[in-house]
Amino acid sequence: MNPKLSAVKGMNDILPPDSARWEWFESTVRELMRAYGYRNMRTPIVEPTALFVRGIGEVTDIVEKEMYSFTDALNGEQLTLRPENTAAIVRAVVEHNLLYDGGKRLWYSGPMFRHERPQRGRYRQFHQVGAEALGFAGPDVDAELILMARRLWNMLGLHGLRLEINCLGQADERARHRARLIAYFEAHEEQLDADARRRLHSNPLRILDTKNPAMQELVQGAPRLLDELGEASRAHFDGLQQLLRAAGQEFTVNPRLVRGLDYYNLSVFEWVSDQLGAQGTVCAGGRYDTLIEQIGGKPAPACGWALGVERVLELLAQTQPASAAAQLDAYVVLAHAPALPRALQVAEQLRAAGLRVQMHAGGGGMKSQMKKADASAARFALIFGEQEWLSESVGVKDLRSGGEQQQRAVPLQPAGLLLDCLART
Ligand code: ATP
Ligand code: MG
Repeated sequence: MNPKLSAVKGMNDILPPDSARWEWFESTVRELMRAYGYRNMRTPIVEPTALFVRGIGEVTDIVEKEMYSFTDALNGEQLTLRPENTAAIVRAVVEHNLLYDGGKRLWYSGPMFRHERPQRGRYRQFHQVGAEALGFAGPDVDAELILMARRLWNMLGLHGLRLEINCLGQADERARHRARLIAYFEAHEEQLDADARRRLHSNPLRILDTKNPAMQELVQGAPRLLDELGEASRAHFDGLQQLLRAAGQEFTVNPRLVRGLDYYNLSVFEWVSDQLGAQGTVCAGGRYDTLIEQIGGKPAPACGWALGVERVLELLAQTQPASAAAQLDAYVVLAHAPALPRALQVAEQLRAAGLRVQMHAGGGGMKSQMKKADASAARFALIFGEQEWLSESVGVKDLRSGGEQQQRAVPLQPAGLLLDCLART
Protein backbone atom coordinates (compact mmCIF):
# COMPACT_ATOMS: atom_id res chain seq x y z
CA MET A 1 0.00 0.00 0.00
CA ASN A 2 1.13 3.56 -0.67
CA PRO A 3 1.89 5.71 2.36
CA LYS A 4 -1.00 7.87 3.53
CA LEU A 5 -1.10 11.58 2.84
CA SER A 6 -2.53 14.09 5.27
CA ALA A 7 -3.69 17.69 5.19
CA VAL A 8 -1.21 20.52 5.80
CA LYS A 9 -0.76 21.25 9.51
CA GLY A 10 -3.21 23.88 10.73
CA MET A 11 -5.49 23.41 7.71
CA ASN A 12 -8.70 21.53 8.36
CA ASP A 13 -11.10 19.35 6.45
CA ILE A 14 -14.69 20.31 7.17
CA LEU A 15 -16.65 17.08 7.22
CA PRO A 16 -20.26 16.02 7.71
CA PRO A 17 -22.06 16.30 10.04
CA ASP A 18 -20.16 19.52 11.02
CA SER A 19 -20.43 20.86 7.48
CA ALA A 20 -24.22 21.14 7.96
CA ARG A 21 -23.57 23.80 10.59
CA TRP A 22 -21.26 25.61 8.17
CA GLU A 23 -23.98 25.62 5.50
CA TRP A 24 -26.55 26.93 7.95
CA PHE A 25 -24.13 29.65 9.10
CA GLU A 26 -23.41 30.66 5.50
CA SER A 27 -27.08 30.93 4.58
CA THR A 28 -27.73 32.98 7.72
CA VAL A 29 -24.92 35.36 6.73
CA ARG A 30 -26.40 35.79 3.25
CA GLU A 31 -29.76 36.62 4.79
CA LEU A 32 -28.12 39.13 7.13
CA MET A 33 -26.27 40.90 4.32
CA ARG A 34 -29.44 41.13 2.24
CA ALA A 35 -31.28 42.66 5.18
CA TYR A 36 -28.76 45.53 5.30
CA GLY A 37 -28.27 45.97 1.55
CA TYR A 38 -24.63 44.78 1.51
CA ARG A 39 -23.55 43.26 -1.79
CA ASN A 40 -21.24 40.30 -2.28
CA MET A 41 -17.65 40.59 -3.59
CA ARG A 42 -15.36 37.72 -4.59
CA THR A 43 -11.68 38.45 -5.08
CA PRO A 44 -8.81 36.05 -5.87
CA ILE A 45 -7.20 34.03 -3.09
CA VAL A 46 -3.75 34.96 -4.41
CA GLU A 47 -2.71 38.61 -4.65
CA PRO A 48 0.56 40.46 -5.34
CA THR A 49 2.63 40.40 -2.13
CA ALA A 50 3.03 44.18 -2.39
CA LEU A 51 -0.71 44.65 -1.78
CA PHE A 52 -0.49 43.26 1.74
CA VAL A 53 2.88 44.84 2.55
CA ARG A 54 1.44 48.21 1.58
CA GLY A 55 -2.07 47.65 2.90
CA ILE A 56 -1.43 45.89 6.21
CA GLY A 57 1.87 47.51 7.13
CA GLU A 58 5.43 46.21 7.26
CA VAL A 59 5.75 46.07 11.04
CA THR A 60 2.80 43.78 11.77
CA ASP A 61 2.63 40.14 12.82
CA ILE A 62 1.00 39.28 9.54
CA VAL A 63 3.56 40.82 7.21
CA GLU A 64 6.57 40.07 9.39
CA LYS A 65 5.98 36.38 9.92
CA GLU A 66 2.55 35.04 8.97
CA MET A 67 2.26 35.33 5.19
CA TYR A 68 2.40 32.43 2.75
CA SER A 69 4.41 34.19 0.07
CA PHE A 70 6.07 32.61 -2.93
CA THR A 71 7.60 33.43 -6.26
CA ASP A 72 5.56 32.33 -9.26
CA ALA A 73 7.94 29.83 -10.88
CA LEU A 74 6.67 30.70 -14.34
CA ASN A 75 7.07 34.47 -14.39
CA GLY A 76 8.87 35.43 -11.20
CA GLU A 77 5.94 37.43 -9.72
CA GLN A 78 5.90 37.80 -5.92
CA LEU A 79 2.54 36.40 -4.73
CA THR A 80 0.83 35.80 -1.37
CA LEU A 81 -2.12 33.71 -0.24
CA ARG A 82 -4.42 36.33 1.22
CA PRO A 83 -4.03 36.63 5.02
CA GLU A 84 -7.12 38.86 5.19
CA ASN A 85 -9.45 40.38 2.63
CA THR A 86 -9.88 44.09 3.29
CA ALA A 87 -6.79 45.08 1.29
CA ALA A 88 -7.99 42.97 -1.65
CA ILE A 89 -11.51 44.42 -1.51
CA VAL A 90 -10.03 47.90 -1.57
CA ARG A 91 -7.74 46.91 -4.46
CA ALA A 92 -10.73 45.67 -6.45
CA VAL A 93 -12.86 48.71 -5.58
CA VAL A 94 -10.08 51.03 -6.77
CA GLU A 95 -9.24 48.92 -9.83
CA HIS A 96 -12.86 48.88 -11.01
CA ASN A 97 -13.62 52.42 -9.83
CA LEU A 98 -16.63 51.22 -7.82
CA LEU A 99 -16.85 54.44 -5.80
CA TYR A 100 -17.46 56.61 -8.90
CA ASP A 101 -21.11 57.13 -7.98
CA GLY A 102 -20.86 57.16 -4.21
CA GLY A 103 -20.31 54.87 -1.25
CA LYS A 104 -20.64 51.10 -1.41
CA ARG A 105 -21.64 48.49 1.13
CA LEU A 106 -19.92 45.18 0.41
CA TRP A 107 -19.33 41.77 1.98
CA TYR A 108 -17.18 38.71 1.39
CA SER A 109 -16.63 35.24 2.76
CA GLY A 110 -13.83 32.75 2.29
CA PRO A 111 -10.56 31.16 3.39
CA MET A 112 -7.59 33.20 4.66
CA PHE A 113 -4.03 31.96 5.27
CA ARG A 114 -1.64 32.83 8.08
CA HIS A 115 1.43 30.89 9.14
CA GLU A 116 0.70 30.91 12.89
CA ARG A 117 1.16 28.29 15.56
CA PRO A 118 -1.99 26.15 15.23
CA GLN A 119 -4.06 25.91 18.42
CA ARG A 120 -7.70 26.10 19.47
CA GLY A 121 -9.34 28.89 17.45
CA ARG A 122 -6.13 29.60 15.53
CA TYR A 123 -5.42 27.85 12.25
CA ARG A 124 -3.25 28.34 9.19
CA GLN A 125 -6.19 28.18 6.83
CA PHE A 126 -9.20 29.75 8.48
CA HIS A 127 -12.31 31.49 7.23
CA GLN A 128 -13.61 34.99 7.55
CA VAL A 129 -16.84 36.72 6.75
CA GLY A 130 -16.37 40.46 6.38
CA ALA A 131 -18.49 43.54 5.80
CA GLU A 132 -17.08 46.80 4.46
CA ALA A 133 -18.77 50.18 4.03
CA LEU A 134 -16.61 52.31 1.73
CA GLY A 135 -17.03 56.01 1.06
CA PHE A 136 -18.83 56.92 4.30
CA ALA A 137 -17.23 58.98 7.08
CA GLY A 138 -19.46 57.73 9.90
CA PRO A 139 -20.09 57.37 12.75
CA ASP A 140 -23.50 56.23 11.44
CA VAL A 141 -22.09 53.35 9.37
CA ASP A 142 -19.72 52.43 12.21
CA ALA A 143 -22.81 51.89 14.37
CA GLU A 144 -24.63 50.12 11.52
CA LEU A 145 -21.76 47.65 11.12
CA ILE A 146 -21.69 46.92 14.85
CA LEU A 147 -25.46 46.44 15.01
CA MET A 148 -25.28 44.17 11.98
CA ALA A 149 -22.95 41.87 13.90
CA ARG A 150 -25.36 41.97 16.83
CA ARG A 151 -28.20 40.90 14.54
CA LEU A 152 -26.08 38.01 13.30
CA TRP A 153 -25.48 36.77 16.86
CA ASN A 154 -29.23 36.94 17.46
CA MET A 155 -30.05 35.10 14.23
CA LEU A 156 -27.57 32.41 15.23
CA GLY A 157 -28.92 32.20 18.77
CA LEU A 158 -25.57 33.20 20.30
CA HIS A 159 -25.67 35.03 23.60
CA GLY A 160 -23.03 36.47 25.87
CA LEU A 161 -20.82 38.18 23.29
CA ARG A 162 -19.40 41.41 24.69
CA LEU A 163 -18.71 44.53 22.65
CA GLU A 164 -15.54 46.53 23.29
CA ILE A 165 -14.83 49.76 21.48
CA ASN A 166 -12.04 52.31 21.33
CA CYS A 167 -10.97 55.30 19.28
CA LEU A 168 -7.52 55.31 17.63
CA GLY A 169 -7.79 58.96 16.60
CA GLN A 170 -5.88 60.33 13.63
CA ALA A 171 -2.22 60.16 12.59
CA ASP A 172 -1.11 63.30 14.47
CA GLU A 173 -2.85 62.17 17.67
CA ARG A 174 -1.27 58.74 17.38
CA ALA A 175 2.14 60.38 16.80
CA ARG A 176 1.82 62.33 20.06
CA HIS A 177 0.67 59.21 21.88
CA ARG A 178 3.46 57.18 20.31
CA ALA A 179 6.10 59.53 21.69
CA ARG A 180 4.65 59.28 25.19
CA LEU A 181 4.33 55.52 24.84
CA ILE A 182 7.98 55.09 23.81
CA ALA A 183 9.09 57.24 26.75
CA TYR A 184 6.97 55.15 29.13
CA PHE A 185 8.21 51.79 27.83
CA GLU A 186 11.83 53.03 27.77
CA ALA A 187 11.48 53.92 31.40
CA HIS A 188 10.39 50.32 32.09
CA GLU A 189 12.63 48.62 29.56
CA GLU A 190 13.64 45.81 31.95
CA GLN A 191 9.99 44.61 31.97
CA LEU A 192 9.68 44.33 28.18
CA ASP A 193 9.74 40.93 26.50
CA ALA A 194 11.69 40.31 23.28
CA ASP A 195 8.73 41.11 21.02
CA ALA A 196 8.07 44.38 22.80
CA ARG A 197 11.74 45.41 22.65
CA ARG A 198 11.74 44.80 18.93
CA ARG A 199 8.57 46.88 18.48
CA LEU A 200 9.51 49.65 20.87
CA HIS A 201 10.64 52.00 18.12
CA SER A 202 8.94 50.49 15.09
CA ASN A 203 5.36 49.96 16.29
CA PRO A 204 4.97 50.65 20.02
CA LEU A 205 1.16 50.79 19.80
CA ARG A 206 1.22 47.07 19.06
CA ILE A 207 2.90 46.41 22.41
CA LEU A 208 -0.48 47.24 23.95
CA ASP A 209 -1.90 44.24 22.07
CA THR A 210 0.54 41.80 23.72
CA LYS A 211 -0.81 38.44 24.82
CA ASN A 212 2.05 37.93 27.31
CA PRO A 213 0.52 37.73 30.83
CA ALA A 214 3.76 38.99 32.39
CA MET A 215 3.38 42.29 30.56
CA GLN A 216 -0.27 42.99 31.38
CA GLU A 217 0.42 45.17 34.41
CA LEU A 218 2.90 47.31 32.51
CA VAL A 219 0.47 47.70 29.63
CA GLN A 220 -2.37 48.63 31.99
CA GLY A 221 -0.34 51.58 33.26
CA ALA A 222 0.67 52.88 29.83
CA PRO A 223 -0.38 56.35 28.57
CA ARG A 224 -3.80 56.25 26.91
CA LEU A 225 -4.41 57.29 23.33
CA LEU A 226 -7.87 58.46 24.42
CA ASP A 227 -6.20 61.24 26.40
CA GLU A 228 -4.54 62.57 23.23
CA LEU A 229 -7.70 62.87 21.13
CA GLY A 230 -8.59 66.23 19.62
CA GLU A 231 -12.09 67.61 19.26
CA ALA A 232 -13.01 66.00 15.92
CA SER A 233 -11.93 62.51 16.96
CA ARG A 234 -13.70 62.89 20.28
CA ALA A 235 -16.92 63.98 18.54
CA HIS A 236 -16.77 60.97 16.22
CA PHE A 237 -16.29 58.62 19.15
CA ASP A 238 -19.05 60.29 21.19
CA GLY A 239 -21.35 60.05 18.17
CA LEU A 240 -20.76 56.31 17.87
CA GLN A 241 -21.39 55.79 21.59
CA GLN A 242 -24.66 57.75 21.45
CA LEU A 243 -25.92 55.70 18.52
CA LEU A 244 -25.06 52.45 20.27
CA ARG A 245 -26.80 53.56 23.47
CA ALA A 246 -29.88 54.64 21.49
CA ALA A 247 -29.94 51.18 19.92
CA GLY A 248 -29.77 49.54 23.34
CA GLN A 249 -26.35 48.07 22.65
CA GLU A 250 -24.13 47.73 25.71
CA PHE A 251 -20.40 48.21 25.32
CA THR A 252 -17.25 48.90 27.25
CA VAL A 253 -14.61 51.41 26.20
CA ASN A 254 -11.31 49.55 26.25
CA PRO A 255 -8.46 52.07 25.93
CA ARG A 256 -5.99 49.20 25.28
CA LEU A 257 -7.91 47.96 22.26
CA VAL A 258 -5.71 48.28 19.18
CA ARG A 259 -5.83 46.25 15.99
CA GLY A 260 -3.25 43.88 14.58
CA LEU A 261 -3.32 45.75 11.29
CA ASP A 262 -1.79 49.18 10.72
CA TYR A 263 -4.51 50.77 8.67
CA TYR A 264 -7.10 51.56 11.34
CA ASN A 265 -8.05 55.02 12.64
CA LEU A 266 -10.92 56.44 14.75
CA SER A 267 -13.41 53.66 15.69
CA VAL A 268 -12.11 50.19 16.49
CA PHE A 269 -14.21 47.43 18.01
CA GLU A 270 -14.21 43.79 18.95
CA TRP A 271 -16.88 41.27 19.84
CA VAL A 272 -15.44 38.98 22.50
CA SER A 273 -16.58 35.68 24.01
CA ASP A 274 -15.49 34.18 27.33
CA GLN A 275 -16.28 30.70 26.01
CA LEU A 276 -13.34 30.28 23.67
CA GLY A 277 -10.29 30.26 25.93
CA ALA A 278 -7.37 32.43 24.85
CA GLN A 279 -8.76 33.09 21.34
CA GLY A 280 -11.85 34.97 22.50
CA THR A 281 -12.16 37.61 19.78
CA VAL A 282 -14.85 36.51 17.40
CA CYS A 283 -15.25 39.63 15.29
CA ALA A 284 -12.97 42.63 14.92
CA GLY A 285 -13.13 45.78 12.91
CA GLY A 286 -12.95 49.51 12.67
CA ARG A 287 -12.42 52.50 10.47
CA TYR A 288 -9.61 52.72 7.88
CA ASP A 289 -9.94 56.13 6.28
CA THR A 290 -6.46 56.17 4.72
CA LEU A 291 -6.28 52.69 3.20
CA ILE A 292 -8.05 53.47 -0.08
CA GLU A 293 -5.56 56.25 -0.82
CA GLN A 294 -2.68 54.00 0.23
CA ILE A 295 -3.78 51.37 -2.31
CA GLY A 296 -3.80 54.01 -5.03
CA GLY A 297 -7.39 55.24 -5.02
CA LYS A 298 -8.87 58.71 -4.54
CA PRO A 299 -9.01 59.36 -0.78
CA ALA A 300 -12.26 58.04 0.70
CA PRO A 301 -13.22 56.97 4.23
CA ALA A 302 -14.18 53.38 5.05
CA CYS A 303 -15.17 51.10 7.90
CA GLY A 304 -15.60 47.35 8.25
CA TRP A 305 -15.23 44.17 10.25
CA ALA A 306 -14.17 40.58 9.81
CA LEU A 307 -15.33 37.65 11.87
CA GLY A 308 -13.55 34.35 12.40
CA VAL A 309 -15.92 31.66 11.15
CA GLU A 310 -14.22 28.80 13.05
CA ARG A 311 -14.60 30.70 16.32
CA VAL A 312 -18.28 31.47 15.70
CA LEU A 313 -18.89 27.84 14.77
CA GLU A 314 -17.16 26.65 17.92
CA LEU A 315 -19.61 28.79 19.91
CA LEU A 316 -22.48 27.36 17.88
CA ALA A 317 -21.28 23.82 18.52
CA GLN A 318 -21.45 24.53 22.25
CA THR A 319 -25.11 25.49 22.00
CA GLN A 320 -26.30 23.08 19.31
CA PRO A 321 -24.91 19.55 19.23
CA ALA A 322 -24.25 18.17 15.76
CA SER A 323 -27.24 16.28 14.44
CA ALA A 324 -28.19 14.64 11.21
CA ALA A 325 -31.85 15.01 12.16
CA ALA A 326 -34.29 16.29 9.56
CA GLN A 327 -31.67 16.26 6.83
CA LEU A 328 -33.63 13.78 4.73
CA ASP A 329 -37.32 13.31 4.11
CA ALA A 330 -37.08 9.84 2.61
CA TYR A 331 -34.68 6.96 2.15
CA VAL A 332 -35.43 4.66 -0.77
CA VAL A 333 -35.07 0.93 -0.03
CA LEU A 334 -34.78 -1.28 -3.10
CA ALA A 335 -35.66 -4.88 -2.24
CA HIS A 336 -36.57 -6.02 -5.76
CA ALA A 337 -33.93 -5.29 -8.43
CA PRO A 338 -36.31 -4.83 -11.44
CA ALA A 339 -37.99 -1.96 -9.57
CA LEU A 340 -34.86 0.23 -9.81
CA PRO A 341 -35.98 2.41 -12.79
CA ARG A 342 -39.36 2.94 -11.13
CA ALA A 343 -37.75 3.83 -7.79
CA LEU A 344 -35.44 6.34 -9.49
CA GLN A 345 -38.42 7.93 -11.23
CA VAL A 346 -40.44 8.24 -8.03
CA ALA A 347 -37.42 9.73 -6.21
CA GLU A 348 -37.05 12.32 -8.99
CA GLN A 349 -40.76 13.26 -8.73
CA LEU A 350 -40.44 13.76 -4.98
CA ARG A 351 -37.28 15.88 -5.37
CA ALA A 352 -39.04 17.98 -8.00
CA ALA A 353 -41.69 18.64 -5.34
CA GLY A 354 -38.97 19.84 -2.94
CA LEU A 355 -38.42 16.73 -0.82
CA ARG A 356 -34.96 15.51 0.20
CA VAL A 357 -34.64 11.93 -0.98
CA GLN A 358 -31.69 9.56 -0.79
CA MET A 359 -31.50 6.32 -2.82
CA HIS A 360 -29.98 3.31 -1.16
CA ALA A 361 -26.78 2.33 -2.95
CA GLY A 362 -24.44 -0.60 -2.52
CA GLY A 363 -26.91 -3.49 -2.58
CA GLY A 364 -27.71 -5.73 0.37
CA GLY A 365 -30.89 -7.36 1.63
CA MET A 366 -34.05 -5.74 2.95
CA LYS A 367 -32.92 -5.97 6.55
CA SER A 368 -29.56 -4.26 6.08
CA GLN A 369 -31.15 -1.58 3.88
CA MET A 370 -33.75 -0.82 6.56
CA LYS A 371 -30.88 -0.41 9.05
CA LYS A 372 -29.27 2.14 6.71
CA ALA A 373 -32.62 3.90 6.37
CA ASP A 374 -32.86 4.18 10.15
CA ALA A 375 -29.27 5.43 10.48
CA SER A 376 -29.87 8.05 7.77
CA ALA A 377 -32.27 9.83 10.13
CA ALA A 378 -34.74 10.15 7.27
CA ARG A 379 -38.39 10.64 8.19
CA PHE A 380 -39.68 7.86 5.92
CA ALA A 381 -38.42 4.69 4.33
CA LEU A 382 -39.89 4.16 0.84
CA ILE A 383 -39.82 0.45 0.07
CA PHE A 384 -39.75 -0.98 -3.43
CA GLY A 385 -40.09 -4.76 -2.98
CA GLU A 386 -41.58 -7.54 -5.04
CA GLN A 387 -45.07 -7.12 -3.54
CA GLU A 388 -45.04 -3.40 -4.31
CA TRP A 389 -43.70 -4.05 -7.81
CA LEU A 390 -46.63 -6.33 -8.60
CA SER A 391 -49.28 -4.05 -7.09
CA GLU A 392 -47.72 -0.84 -8.56
CA SER A 393 -47.36 0.71 -5.16
CA VAL A 394 -44.65 1.76 -2.71
CA GLY A 395 -44.31 0.75 0.93
CA VAL A 396 -44.17 3.78 3.23
CA LYS A 397 -42.78 3.36 6.72
CA ASP A 398 -42.68 6.28 9.16
CA LEU A 399 -39.29 5.91 10.87
CA ARG A 400 -39.80 8.64 13.46
CA SER A 401 -43.27 7.94 14.80
CA GLY A 402 -41.94 5.95 17.75
CA GLY A 403 -43.48 2.65 18.83
CA GLU A 404 -44.18 -0.12 16.33
CA GLN A 405 -43.48 1.06 12.81
CA GLN A 406 -46.41 0.30 10.49
CA GLN A 407 -45.83 -0.08 6.79
CA ARG A 408 -48.54 1.14 4.42
CA ALA A 409 -48.86 0.40 0.72
CA VAL A 410 -49.48 3.61 -1.27
CA PRO A 411 -50.48 3.27 -4.96
CA LEU A 412 -48.14 5.07 -7.39
CA GLN A 413 -51.09 6.32 -9.47
CA PRO A 414 -52.36 8.99 -9.31
CA ALA A 415 -48.89 10.58 -8.96
CA GLY A 416 -49.87 13.08 -6.22
CA LEU A 417 -51.05 10.38 -3.83
CA LEU A 418 -47.62 9.51 -2.42
CA LEU A 419 -46.72 13.18 -2.02
CA ASP A 420 -49.98 13.83 -0.11
CA CYS A 421 -49.31 10.85 2.06
CA LEU A 422 -45.77 12.03 2.97
CA ALA A 423 -46.95 15.58 3.58
CA ARG A 424 -49.90 14.59 5.77
CA THR A 425 -47.96 12.55 8.29
P1 ATP B 1 -5.62 37.67 16.97
O1 ATP B 1 -5.30 38.81 17.86
O2 ATP B 1 -6.51 36.62 17.58
O3 ATP B 1 -4.42 37.10 16.26
P2 ATP B 1 -6.07 39.35 14.69
O4 ATP B 1 -6.03 40.71 15.23
O5 ATP B 1 -4.88 38.80 13.99
O6 ATP B 1 -6.53 38.31 15.83
P3 ATP B 1 -7.91 40.01 12.56
O7 ATP B 1 -6.85 40.08 11.54
O8 ATP B 1 -8.54 41.23 13.04
O9 ATP B 1 -7.37 39.14 13.80
O10 ATP B 1 -9.03 38.98 12.05
C1 ATP B 1 -10.41 39.08 12.43
C2 ATP B 1 -10.88 37.80 13.07
O11 ATP B 1 -10.50 36.66 12.33
C3 ATP B 1 -10.30 37.54 14.46
O12 ATP B 1 -10.99 38.26 15.42
C4 ATP B 1 -10.52 36.05 14.60
O13 ATP B 1 -11.86 35.78 14.97
C5 ATP B 1 -10.28 35.57 13.20
N1 ATP B 1 -8.90 35.05 13.07
C6 ATP B 1 -7.76 35.76 12.88
N2 ATP B 1 -6.70 34.94 12.76
C7 ATP B 1 -7.18 33.68 12.85
C8 ATP B 1 -6.60 32.37 12.78
N3 ATP B 1 -5.30 32.20 12.57
N4 ATP B 1 -7.41 31.28 12.94
C9 ATP B 1 -8.74 31.43 13.14
N5 ATP B 1 -9.35 32.63 13.20
C10 ATP B 1 -8.59 33.74 13.06
MG1 MG C 1 -3.30 37.54 14.60
